[in-house]
Parts: sequence; C-alpha cells; structure tokens
Amino acid sequence: MISLGISSTDGKARTGLLHTGHGNVETPAFMPVGTAGTIKGLTPDQVAAAGAKMILANTYHLMLRPGAQTIADLGGLHRVMGWSGPILTDSGGYQVFSLARLRRIDDEGVAFQSHIDGAELRLTPAGAIQAQRLMGADVIMQLDECPPADATGQQVAEAVRRSAAWARLCRDEWAAPTDDGPAASQALFGIQQGGVFHDLRRQSADALVALDLPGYAIGGLSVGEGHSAMCRVLDDIDAQLPADRPRYLMGVGEPRDILAAVARGVDLFDCVLPTRNGRNAEAFTNSGRIRLRNARWAKDASSLEADCDCFTCRNFSRGVLRHLFMAKEMLGPILVSIHNLRFFARFMAGIRQAIAEGNLARWSQVVLARMYEMDNGGETPTPTE
Ligand SMILES: [Zn+2]
Repeated sequence: MISLGISSTDGKARTGLLHTGHGNVETPAFMPVGTAGTIKGLTPDQVAAAGAKMILANTYHLMLRPGAQTIADLGGLHRVMGWSGPILTDSGGYQVFSLARLRRIDDEGVAFQSHIDGAELRLTPAGAIQAQRLMGADVIMQLDECPPADATGQQVAEAVRRSAAWARLCRDEWAAPTDDGPAASQALFGIQQGGVFHDLRRQSADALVALDLPGYAIGGLSVGEGHSAMCRVLDDIDAQLPADRPRYLMGVGEPRDILAAVARGVDLFDCVLPTRNGRNAEAFTNSGRIRLRNARWAKDASSLEADCDCFTCRNFSRGVLRHLFMAKEMLGPILVSIHNLRFFARFMAGIRQAIAEGNLARWSQVVLARMYEMDNGGETPTPTE
C-alpha cells in the first residue's frame, strides 16, 4: 500500500514523500509514460538516470497486447518493464474512449472494438481491476467514463454519476480478499470527473472521498478546455480532496499547467510530451522549446541547455542532434527523449525546492517569463494556448 507524508507547504502547494512497496517518490513528481510497457526508445537505466522515480503504463494497450495474463505469466509488470521502482497503471478507460471503435456504454461497462485487430471486447469496472491486479502495478486506477471535450452539461453529469458508481464497484473488487494477487500491496485511486462544471466536480469528489480511497486523480482536464478553465477547476481541489492523500492530475504535462496545478495542491503528473516531442525533434528547455529540424541549428556546437547535466547535453551539440534527425538515425529520438525526461525531472526538483523555501509564486513567475513570454534571442518560445 502507499502513503504520502507531507514535508512542507507553500500556500496550497505541498512537497511530500510518497511511500510505495517499490521505493519512495518525492512529490510533486512527474511520471514518464510507458504506453506499451516501455518508455519508447529508452532503456530503464536511461529513464532512471534522467531522474524519473515512478513511471506509468497503459492498461488498454497492454490488455490488448500482449494481454494482462501474459504480463502476469512473464513475471508481472515490474519484470516486463525492467523497472524496480514504483509503477502506476491507468484503467484503460481513457483509451477505450479515445482510441477504440464502436463503443457501447451502459452501467455495466463499455463494449468496444480493438483498434489493433477489430476484436469485440468488453471492459467492466471489476475487469479493469482484475487486469491491473494481474499486471501488478503499485498504483491502479478505477474505470471511469471520460466524456469528450465538447460534451454537454447533461452528458458530463451522466459521466459523473456512472464514474461514481464504477468507483464503488472497483473499490469492492480491489478490496475483495484474494489469495493469488499482489492486490494487498496495490493502491486504488479514484478519478474525479465533472468537466469544467464546479457543482459536478464537487459531486464527483464527494462520492469518491466517501469511499476512503488511498489516492485521488483529477481526470477530464487538458482535453481542450484551455489553461484558465483548467485553473478554475483546480482552484477547488484542495478543499474537495483530503490533504493526506496523493492527488494526481492525469495527462497534464505542459510546464505552465504543471506549475498552476502544483500551486493548487496537485502532487503527481504524467504526460507523453517529453518522449513524444523528443521523438519529433523537439527539446524542452528553460528558455522555450527547440525544434531541432530547423536549419539554424546545423552548425550550432552548443548543447541543448548549458546547465543541463543529462547524457545528451554532456556529449552532443544541437548541430549533431539536428544531423541525427535529418539522417533519420534512431539515436536522435533517443537522445532528445533523454534530455526531455531530464528537463522534466529538474523542473519538478526546482518546484519542490521553491515550495520548501516558501518561494513558489516568485520562482514560477521567473520560470514562466523565461519559458513563455520573453524573446528568447531567437530560440523557439514554448507555444501558449
Ligand atoms: Zn540535457
């Protein structure tokens, strides 16, 4: 099981230590995403060297291929991923709603067609927990309904009602005694839904908190509602969710969004941005993003970031990285993914230090100005919404 010890606060922001059966994680923390059981292109050693402590894998993808039972037969997710630290799996719901075809949803669960081979499949609240139990992550998620970004208030209200009912079914399955799984060591998180509707968010949080779960996630954000709408939803979470449980904002990784969420009391984040953008020749830096395919970097002998201590910055220049992408060498995506993961780990370490020093607001102002607003002397500023 997991627990969170809060070590310092600055307004609603907090630093803490998340204790898990596979080691401790300083929070606020960013979790790299290993969709199919691997952080794309990187060895576990490289992921750890970049400073990541806890990683995420997607149940939907692993359930379809190679299958949750196969993961269990291969020794469980920690063995399969070659990762001895903490792992979180999502429930599969988000991908069912975003990737699968021909969804039919009712109170029992959701029927869908695999996006890989068209097979007819069904995901139920209990089934999502059973699949995650087989795989054996440290933190597992409830099945929830994720309404689309343009859903009406009525559709969102229906998703909140259904997600709350599923949370209870997931809790019952998770809490049921088993003699064969690592369930006792797994922590179940509930997922708050409710879109940008404050009363629905409150209703969703109340239903989850009544179940007294080990942690709570905030779902359904960063789906196109925009930065300020997201901030208004997050304004309420400190009051809605218990202070002694971890709070996880799902799928949010834009540095500006992370800062805003941390300031409102969020502890955990995950996003594909560092690795997806890394594969596409885009590097995160403190002075905005660098698009390495740009011809301007061809003869640039400087590293991505002068003060970055990652393997890439210690050994390769922007000019060399650009060459690797232009020549379609696989080392290019690997090296920029390494740097981007290190960027996020250092960013989170900076946030933790600023909170511990009671200086988060001022620190954020300086960081945001450098990353988003300043004319960065010709570098590519991070795009704003
Ligand atoms: Zn670097």
